[in-house]
Amino acid sequence: MSNEELEQLRASLDEKNKDLLKLINERAEIVQKIGNVKSKSGTKRYDPVRERRMLDLIADENEGPFETSTLQHLFKQIFKASLELMGDDEQKALLVSRKKHPDNTVVDVKGEKIGDGLQRLIAGPCSVESEEQVFAVAEALKKRGVNLLRGGAYKPRSSPYDFQGLGVEGLEILKKAGDRYDMAVISEIVTPTDVEKAVDYLDVIQIGARNMQNFELLKEVGSTKKPILLKRGLSASISEFIHAAEYVMSRGNTNLMLCERGIRTYETATRNTLDISAVPILKQETHLPVLADVTHSTGRRDLLLPAAKAALAIGADAVMAEVHPDPAVALSDSAQQMDIEQFNTFISTLRDAQLLKDGVEDKTTL
Ligand code: PEP
Ligand code: MN
Repeated sequence: MSNEELEQLRASLDEKNKDLLKLINERAEIVQKIGNVKSKSGTKRYDPVRERRMLDLIADENEGPFETSTLQHLFKQIFKASLELMGDDEQKALLVSRKKHPDNTVVDVKGEKIGDGLQRLIAGPCSVESEEQVFAVAEALKKRGVNLLRGGAYKPRSSPYDFQGLGVEGLEILKKAGDRYDMAVISEIVTPTDVEKAVDYLDVIQIGARNMQNFELLKEVGSTKKPILLKRGLSASISEFIHAAEYVMSRGNTNLMLCERGIRTYETATRNTLDISAVPILKQETHLPVLADVTHSTGRRDLLLPAAKAALAIGADAVMAEVHPDPAVALSDSAQQMDIEQFNTFISTLRDAQLLKDGVEDKTTL
């Protein structure tokens, strides 16, 4: 074979490669269209019966010189890459995804429109301990124009011998405080069967970090209309967090807020590591309000203020922090709660730094 003939063959091989490239991409476009239809109808992307049929067709049509098994192997690679292409479409179709819903979701909590662009504070004791304790905190918050009161009635504690919370009595105290001070009350529910009753007491149901993947609980709160505050799991990736949120939204509840609360790392200087970049990532990836809990992430009173500044500066819709009238005797998290004086300094500093500037208004009298 002359050099000239060899060059000609090489040129026609290049042409065939170009043809194949074009065909593979045209095929990919069809695959994407099928993917769109499937994600809209909720059909599974992988269809083994269809794949078997396509492989059989290759066997029927093959005239060589390649062995059928070789071609089927090559086509399986194309099928695999196609499935991955459809995977992107599935991601786009998540109900919590900003691709699905470009506008910010605003969650109305008793008139406080979380996610409306104004930055807010959610505060209150770690645990509800007594009416007197909750009322003291509620009054202090209200005086500073903070209308979002948190407090744990069911406490998921690492040790079964630690204070477990007051249960329904705690919910009753919170409700009373909410009514008395005209505040929205937020508390964690840990059991699916408690959700129905909690709806009567609470303005927001919190799903705690330890329950982020309690799928039955997520489905249960997703079936209500109550605003839900979902915390990131201790070792949950952002993708797992987003999918947990999808559990709630897929049941029809769109009143959903996400809360970064620190993740487990090798660092021991803080209780957890506040994953500050999760805030803008979650805001980009989802349309939901994103909060940052500076208490459980840092576990250190001296870090509450700098962490809150960072969270607000990076775009959190609200900051959560724990406040107790007398943290030294608190039944949980005594090392990291602020007392009322510290809370007043905390909120004044944030406002002086032009953070929380429009979200809340000082009300010095009730
Ligand atoms: C809480 O907010 O009371 C709490 C227990 O937080 P987390 O679930 O983030 O640990
Ligand atoms: Mn706590």
